[in-house]
Amino acid sequence: MAASIVGAVDWQTEVSGFCRCPGEALHTQQNGKKDCRVSVDGAPTIYCFHASCSPVVAEANRRLRRELGDWSWEIALPGGRVLRNGDVLQASGEVLPREAVQARARAEGRDGGEQVILETVRVMAERFAPEMFERFHWPFAQIVADSPLQVSERDAEDQFRTWLKLWPAHCHVWIGDVFSSGKPEHRTHFRPIADWYQIGPCMGNFTCGSAFKPGSFRRCNENLNGQRFLVIESDTLAKDEVGAVFAYLNRRLRYRLHCIIDTAGKSLHAWFDAPRNRTMEARLKAGLTAFGCDPKVFTYSQPVRVPGAWRDGKLQRLVWLKE
Ligand SMILES: [Zn+2]
Repeated sequence: MAASIVGAVDWQTEVSGFCRCPGEALHTQQNGKKDCRVSVDGAPTIYCFHASCSPVVAEANRRLRRELGDWSWEIALPGGRVLRNGDVLQASGEVLPREAVQARARAEGRDGGEQVILETVRVMAERFAPEMFERFHWPFAQIVADSPLQVSERDAEDQFRTWLKLWPAHCHVWIGDVFSSGKPEHRTHFRPIADWYQIGPCMGNFTCGSAFKPGSFRRCNENLNGQRFLVIESDTLAKDEVGAVFAYLNRRLRYRLHCIIDTAGKSLHAWFDAPRNRTMEARLKAGLTAFGCDPKVFTYSQPVRVPGAWRDGKLQRLVWLKE
């Protein structure tokens, strides 16, 4: 039935394989054999790495879900396992039954249909990860070379001031060390942008991707004040690998990229606009986790490295900055 919509499928597992994108005629970049995938478990989904085909893909997805969702079907898997419509095949080979998906939805206070989407995003991201890392490969040296503004060689003070400009002037931003939070005397670490221009990054190596309410002295989600960035990092991906995730978010998912910071340690941090709403945030979280990025980035009061501060003799610095 999937093949009747997308044509021949090069099945990679019992439930998922590569296919020709139904919106291929709209592609503006070169086509690859592994650009588009169809999965029939969970919420049946056609997913393509190109962005230009999305209206046609969305229509094909409606059809696929209608035709596969209208009746009860099952697939016999090796080893006596059975996958019914709505069940999700895990990377481990286990079948996550649709009843378990619904139980998870209830436990997390989420709509059942949305929970199926989340489970599907997770497994599709796992299936697609090798293609994503290959297709969006963006090694560290290339990131530096591609920066619209040449920033990596700027001195510490310039780094810091350049980064401050990413914030609207009225924002109150925290800068400190991890424990400079929680007591009234820590109020001095929460200051408006204009104050930080005068002071510099001497009060600590860390900041947050979110602004805080004036008068805050505790870095917690209750004190957040609207303006926020989504800071993506990974504890497991190397500097030459994680760029693929940044490029994918920026070029395919169209999240606006503001800057990339070299933490003077093993990792890079990319600052993006935060997702538009909770639903998008949860889907992004499911996908990013599958790509090896840390879900703690979705705690908006999480400390992250501030550019212009020194870490063991090395400068935390901007290496990519938007125009
Ligand atoms: Zn496509």
